[in-house]
Amino acid sequence: MRTIRAAIAMDPVEPFILGDYELEKPRADEVLVKIVASGICHTDIAVKEQAVTLPLPMVLGHEGSGIVERLGDGVKHLSVGDHVVLSGDSCGSCRKCHHGLPSYCDAFVERNLTGCRVDGTSPLSAGSEPVRGRFVGQSSFATHSVVPGRAAIRVDNHYPLELLGPLGCGLTTGVGTVMNALRPSAGSSIAIFGAGTVGLAAVMGAVLSGCHQIIVIDPISSRREMALSMGATHVLPPNDSALVDELLSLTRGGADFSVECSGVPEAVNAAVMCLARPGWCAQVGATPAGTLHPLDMDHVGFGRGIKGVVMGDANPQTFVPYLAALHAQGKLPYDRFVKFYDFSGINQAIADSKSGEVIKPILRMGR
Ligand SMILES: [Zn+2]
Ligand SMILES: [Zn+2]
Repeated sequence: MRTIRAAIAMDPVEPFILGDYELEKPRADEVLVKIVASGICHTDIAVKEQAVTLPLPMVLGHEGSGIVERLGDGVKHLSVGDHVVLSGDSCGSCRKCHHGLPSYCDAFVERNLTGCRVDGTSPLSAGSEPVRGRFVGQSSFATHSVVPGRAAIRVDNHYPLELLGPLGCGLTTGVGTVMNALRPSAGSSIAIFGAGTVGLAAVMGAVLSGCHQIIVIDPISSRREMALSMGATHVLPPNDSALVDELLSLTRGGADFSVECSGVPEAVNAAVMCLARPGWCAQVGATPAGTLHPLDMDHVGFGRGIKGVVMGDANPQTFVPYLAALHAQGKLPYDRFVKFYDFSGINQAIADSKSGEVIKPILRMGR
């Protein structure tokens, strides 16, 4: 047992509260990681505010990066001192895991969304009371975490570790949705709805794929400017009833691909209606369970489709080091939309993310 500091989400109203907790030693298949930094993702806020109804109280955070401090006997791919980016947990033995698609693991929910290990225990406690400390395999709003070995991805020690956490969720989701799920050929056109972290990462994925038209739709002008600086060729505000017509005109008949990152029903419709034939829309924005949406099936019937994509259809163990290398080469300049905060500034960071002022807040956990 060791004492660590963590930010706990108690309920939808109270701010995050920093406090001291006890953390167990890693089990055979686990790793103790000193968290250096953690990005804040919209999913953390959605769980805190119970738009996504997971059990609280819980330590949230799922874009952690850190240093391996201690290893269980069964973890063979890491050493003490390794720099790691944390990702979601998966079983490693189901059909999807064997196919390199762990975000569709049969055990995804129990391993990532309960805040506990599969056996119902948590490595974290307050006195004799267990505290949920296994959110998305990591609960990274903490100075330390005990994580499953499979959720820790080794990265080159020369990379700027405090910047790398968002590679584990937001960047993997955006770049992977384009490069793994849609796979546009060079010269394709793509429309991207939403210019938050995921949408901007999708822009970078489209640039890397050689798309010749990259059109970004977002209501905030500063985000549209950011999209242009990332390689978007055109930007549009969404509050225009002629949006679909404008997209059809810009693309001379329709976009080959679209990515919907906002979860707004009108955007889903536009993302499908702006498609060429054939054309594919990737649905990435989170919508509450039970959300229904009408689609013009005559339009879809002409070779168009919509597919949901989780974590960019990526295998994080190979995709995260690839993204880190791209960043080191200057091909993934997401540091331009990052703002760092001290761990104690977590509530301000969340307020700035919700207001749209900051695209990707990252918390520095300190010594
Ligand atoms: Zn996330
Ligand atoms: Zn699995």
